[in-house]
Amino acid sequence: MLDQAPQRSARSILKDVFGYDAFRGNQAAIIERVAAGGDALVLMPTGGGKSLCYQVPGLLRDGLAVIVSPLIALMDDQVATLDELGVAAVALNSTLSNDEQREIAERIRRGEIKFLYLAPERLVQPRMLAFLQNLQIALFAIDEAHCVSQWGHDFRPEYLQLGQLAELFPGVPRIALTATADKRTREEIAQRLHLENAERFLSSFDRPNIFYRIQPKDQPRKQLLAFLAARKGDAGIVYCLSRKKVEEVAEFLSAQGFPALPYHAGLPSDLRAYNQKRFLNEEGLIMVATIAFGMGIDKPNVRFVCHLDLPKSLEAYYQETGRAGRDGLPADAWMAYGLQDVIFLKQMLSNSEGDERHKRVEQHKLDAMLALCEEIRCRRQALLAYFDEDLPQPCGHCDTCVDQVQTWDATEPARQGLSAIYRSGQRYGVGHLVDILLGRDNDKIRAVGHQHLPVFGIGKALSEGEWRTLFRQLVARGLADVDLEGYGGLRLSDSCRPLLRGEVTLELRRDLKPQQAAKASGSSASQLVRGEEREQWEALRTLRRKLAEEHSVPPYVIFPDSTLLEMLRSQPRSLDEMARVSGVGARKLERYGQAFLEVLNGAGEGEAPKVVQDLRHELVSLARAGMTPAQIASQLNCGEKSVYNMLAEAIGRQQLSLEQALDLPEELLGAIQDAFLDGEGELPPVAAIVEQFAGQVPEGVLHCVRAALQAEFEV
Ligand code: ADP
Ligand code: ZN
Repeated sequence: MLDQAPQRSARSILKDVFGYDAFRGNQAAIIERVAAGGDALVLMPTGGGKSLCYQVPGLLRDGLAVIVSPLIALMDDQVATLDELGVAAVALNSTLSNDEQREIAERIRRGEIKFLYLAPERLVQPRMLAFLQNLQIALFAIDEAHCVSQWGHDFRPEYLQLGQLAELFPGVPRIALTATADKRTREEIAQRLHLENAERFLSSFDRPNIFYRIQPKDQPRKQLLAFLAARKGDAGIVYCLSRKKVEEVAEFLSAQGFPALPYHAGLPSDLRAYNQKRFLNEEGLIMVATIAFGMGIDKPNVRFVCHLDLPKSLEAYYQETGRAGRDGLPADAWMAYGLQDVIFLKQMLSNSEGDERHKRVEQHKLDAMLALCEEIRCRRQALLAYFDEDLPQPCGHCDTCVDQVQTWDATEPARQGLSAIYRSGQRYGVGHLVDILLGRDNDKIRAVGHQHLPVFGIGKALSEGEWRTLFRQLVARGLADVDLEGYGGLRLSDSCRPLLRGEVTLELRRDLKPQQAAKASGSSASQLVRGEEREQWEALRTLRRKLAEEHSVPPYVIFPDSTLLEMLRSQPRSLDEMARVSGVGARKLERYGQAFLEVLNGAGEGEAPKVVQDLRHELVSLARAGMTPAQIASQLNCGEKSVYNMLAEAIGRQQLSLEQALDLPEELLGAIQDAFLDGEGELPPVAAIVEQFAGQVPEGVLHCVRAALQAEFEV
């Protein structure tokens, strides 16, 4: 039905179908090119809006749009999204039965399908190609086009065969898209996919909504908790290197009240799939994962990506952190890194298979990663520079920009540190070296006679922590090497000679004190909604979750967070106003507009809207079933405070008894009741006694007790 209006413009499709007001970046130019029948090669970062670049021309042109995508999860997501927009789309994949496939083929022949998603190996089957040659094809889109690159880590041999589309479908435009930045991959795509005549569209690879922070690792779990403290209820990914650590951290976080799931290649595949599905469909879950997790994860509202271990390269760091904030809303990339990471990665590298040349390349990549960690200038400038992009000004949105990193002249201590390495025979680890420098007269020192070294005790001007930082930075800058055969002892490297000879000076980054760092990490980007908006925000999310369940799609397919947020801020009062909200297209307006309006406008005035009623209903049953307020909060996906408020209301309406709502020790309950009944006449407000019970019970408990007393009086 959508393709029956040939003269529709790209802009009207954008508004009517997708509900957006304006194209972003290169979208308009790309769409114009492809809609007119030209080829395009599109390089755009994650979240840049690549899908619209082929979906809009697909709708503008007659015939079937064919999209090649490497992963089933990606296809299903896109099909669900189009489906919600009222656009006919299907994915052909191996999970379908023969009958189902035949039926889809029939529907395609009848022209009932606008978008066909399939994997490359399926597309290039002779039968499939013959089938498509008998149809009118609007365009071919080749998503994740970097999979054609033999040098990349996502290489898919089947992609090599996609080049033949050029000859088999001469008049059909082809558009290849990727978020991989480097030049070599770009050239390979153009050549192997026969896109020599494609117009190239390069976007900036900056992800302006991501706040970057890299902290020295001190007590990583504590640091992680400090970071997460301000992000309760947000979804995020925590990357760890080993499977064991993944499981431990997931358990630890869950025990600390941050619901977390593990994901690594060693888990049974059904559990892996289950955890991934939960991460996509539920809100506020943390995925603790190895790098096995992420490719094809299109969840737009991942609010943070944390690294508890150092990635091997900036390419990996950029890609992994890039999974945060696809929706364009504020997101965080946070990492804790320490000397142990460096030693570990270097050891892994030296033990890896492969020729010397390969190892040298990997070594350079690791060095670039380390340089970013110790960067004293803007992190974003450094990161983009690595991808040959020039950001003229410091970004103002990374830790080095906002914390105003201090540097210090470390020339003299660095020489002392290097001497300590040299004098002790270039085989001791940092712990021992620090003991020497601080002049610690212990058994280990005495056993090897190091109390007689000339460097013994010369470093008392620095603390142990400062020495550790210094050694980490010496290794990160390649001034000292890690002994890879032994136990991580340090050696001098050739590049430290000029420093030892006094020909150069050394300026180093001063680490933030742990308290400062914890504070800083809690105060950056995230936190989408303000306190007073919370309740309505939760109500909107609850409605979305309910609709998502009914339609068996992830919540963000109903509406992305950015759309809910705009509803919250613009408070539409009518369907007309609702239609103006970005992300509300014609079909979604028709399906969901009214329900969301009710949530926005109904609360507080007369009859509560249907969803709010449902929510209360559910709350009462959960409380009766014996759930604690905290459990109810996580079940209903709303704040504990609102749970207490609703409990108090339910008690007031005598739908719940106080005992059903709360599990309070007899004595404490008595004390609270006494406090309320102390005066004469009217019950005092909660505020009057809240001080008295501060730290003993949440304020919400007092509201519940008061509601119970009041209900009793009224009878
Ligand atoms: P990519 O595939 O490049 O990572 P997507 O195509 O998934 O990005 O788009 C990211 C998000 O941005 C999606 O939620 C999409 O609907 C939204 N989006 C894309 N283009 C626009 C636009 N012009 N205006 C508003 N939102 C947009
Ligand atoms: Zn910056």
